[in-house]
Amino acid sequence: MSNQDNVLAARVGLKWLEEQQKVAGNRTRIHRLFQQICEQVIAAAGAKTSFVIKDILESEHESESGSQVRKKFKELGEWLSERADVLAESAVDNNFKVYPTGQVTKGDRVLVFIFSARDVDLRFTPSKNDIPEGAIRYTFETRRELNMWLRWLYGAQLGLIPAILIVVLLFGFSGFMILLIIGSLYSAVYQPSIYNWLLTTLLIIVSAKFYKHWRRFYELPERRVVLMPDLLTGRLTPTALVLHHQDDERLPRLNVIAATSTCPVCGGKIVLRADKDNRVYGACTVNPNEHTFSFDYTKKLGWRRN
Ligand SMILES: [Zn+2]
Repeated sequence: MSNQDNVLAARVGLKWLEEQQKVAGNRTRIHRLFQQICEQVIAAAGAKTSFVIKDILESEHESESGSQVRKKFKELGEWLSERADVLAESAVDNNFKVYPTGQVTKGDRVLVFIFSARDVDLRFTPSKNDIPEGAIRYTFETRRELNMWLRWLYGAQLGLIPAILIVVLLFGFSGFMILLIIGSLYSAVYQPSIYNWLLTTLLIIVSAKFYKHWRRFYELPERRVVLMPDLLTGRLTPTALVLHHQDDERLPRLNVIAATSTCPVCGGKIVLRADKDNRVYGACTVNPNEHTFSFDYTKKLGWRRN
């Protein structure tokens, strides 16, 4: 990437920070850190792309909180990669073709942050002006907003060992439940008592209810996108589990996506849902029956369903 690209990416960074401040109101320390880096990249006309903590502290004038700045500085690379999607989205909306990214490496005993520009993949991030008429665009939440174990799944490559683990977990669990039911039926038949029959009935009801959601995971290889059972995402935004192939990779990757959008009919929030057929779609929280949209996670687009 050229110096010019670095300057453009830094400008996208500042633009995005501005938008963030409008939404969230105040700026956290890591926001300010990133802001200073973007400003310094611009000031140096894109020629300076590696930063040490001293570069920031000198301009921050708050040496007493230096250790906190240091801590945030260390997290900066991870923080940016978690926001790659929203930064790319902000770039296309403001007519830029690059967005900022970076990583922290351990240089000669000091931490060094390397700023870089990355091309926006326009195939996957349609700009606000390129959204086809009648379609909605989904925004993918950042990784930080997912809970801990979902964050681990995000982008995980499905090699042999994780694939075996998942199969063992999925089938092992169902196998265990089936054995439990058979055992409990056996004892209910040979030692009939109200307690044994109640327990067996309860076990069957719970398993059947659970299987309804659990079944989705078995369908993932074929469907490529299934909705995570609410039980697993907790009170977070409904989340989809996606199996996708990167262009140059042999093995598929797992991705967890919490996608939301704004309802063009009533302005309500659109979140992901699964229909009876387990197909993932977007439904408006104000009118989930009528304001429904398809969910194309590859293009981040949705079309009116009825
Ligand atoms: Zn609506």
